[in-house]
Amino acid sequence: MPIFTHPEFDQHEQVQFCHDKATGLKAIIAVHNTRLGPALGGCRMWPYADEQQALNDVLRLSRGMTYKSALAGLPLGGGKAVIIADPRKDKSPALFQAMGAFVESLGGRYITAADSGTGVAEMALMGQRTRHVVGAGTREQLGGGIRSGDPSPATALGVFIGLREAVLQRLGRADLTGLRVAVQGLGQVGFNLAQQLRAAGAELWVHDIQEANVRRAVDELGAHAVGAQDIYGLDVDVFSPCAMGAIINGETLQLLQAPVIAGAANNQLAKASHADVLWRRGCLHAPDYAINAGGIIDVSYEYTGGSPEQVRRHVEGIGDTLRQIFLRAKAEDRNTTNIADSLAQERLNA
Ligand code: NAD
Repeated sequence: MPIFTHPEFDQHEQVQFCHDKATGLKAIIAVHNTRLGPALGGCRMWPYADEQQALNDVLRLSRGMTYKSALAGLPLGGGKAVIIADPRKDKSPALFQAMGAFVESLGGRYITAADSGTGVAEMALMGQRTRHVVGAGTREQLGGGIRSGDPSPATALGVFIGLREAVLQRLGRADLTGLRVAVQGLGQVGFNLAQQLRAAGAELWVHDIQEANVRRAVDELGAHAVGAQDIYGLDVDVFSPCAMGAIINGETLQLLQAPVIAGAANNQLAKASHADVLWRRGCLHAPDYAINAGGIIDVSYEYTGGSPEQVRRHVEGIGDTLRQIFLRAKAEDRNTTNIADSLAQERLNA
């Protein structure tokens, strides 16, 4: 398995393979770039089919964290960890303590956080062996307000602010009353976003594979429930992907009509070239790692220190970052993802 010549290697500073015989832990920690500060990124637990898949994932994700933190103006670099195991049956306190010890062994170059398959409980277990962990505290310990130990409220706030900015730039309207928004995925972020949109007067069309989530949106927010395939082609102002990645792909591009795409999902574009297709047809797409940075901003303050009010103000800055991206995209006639990458690179090289 090549590392230095791996297609996703992209000049990673450090890739650590971790094995603990006693617990059976197998994990990879990738530190992409620490130029702006220690590498902060989640620890994912996933039953990867093979080690190659785990390596691909951790390298791709840690590079993404470098860009996300740089663009969000954080004093942090990019890193990520993956534990190769099934979160439904392989969790044990000893396994996460062992993982914590590996994180500690990097001496603070990597700071871990929750991700798919891990949460506050696992971060607390890792925290028994390392100081370099965030997302292990409770709302009371963190000062309350937006800070609950769960990054999703901050992510949802950032997405709401970013969506509003995209609507202002593309549709010229600051008032969201009557704005038609299709929300795909009503989980921790999607439902919170839908609540904020509804409170601002928007009308919602929603889909989730979990019927209970749809029912709640219909009952509490007066949303219109639509089918899995129907969510793409609706005649709405905004399509908001808040479920899974690669949702903008060859198939959905044929269906999507909304002039604005702004949502929380990571890695929304199946191919980088799709950003150009959207741009050419006049669809303003808020790059995912710019609009969904609220969560990383929130947890970063847990590490560096700061009040809930500071966190909120920083998250609100996502609107300014997106405005900068949208205006520069227009001035240079380049797609928004392209511009976001350039901005992040410029901050990294500054
Ligand atoms: P979540 O698991 O709480 O919610 C995802 C929701 O999407 C679930 O309700 C699920 O049933 C639904 N879903 C899954 N597949 C679907 C499909 N095909 N069609 C419709 N609905 C589907 O996750 P979340 O924390 O709300 O995160 C949502 C997205 O935002 C993810 O892509 C995540 O990576 C990204 N994100 C989350 C955060 C955060 O702070 N939670 C931060 C940055 C990015």
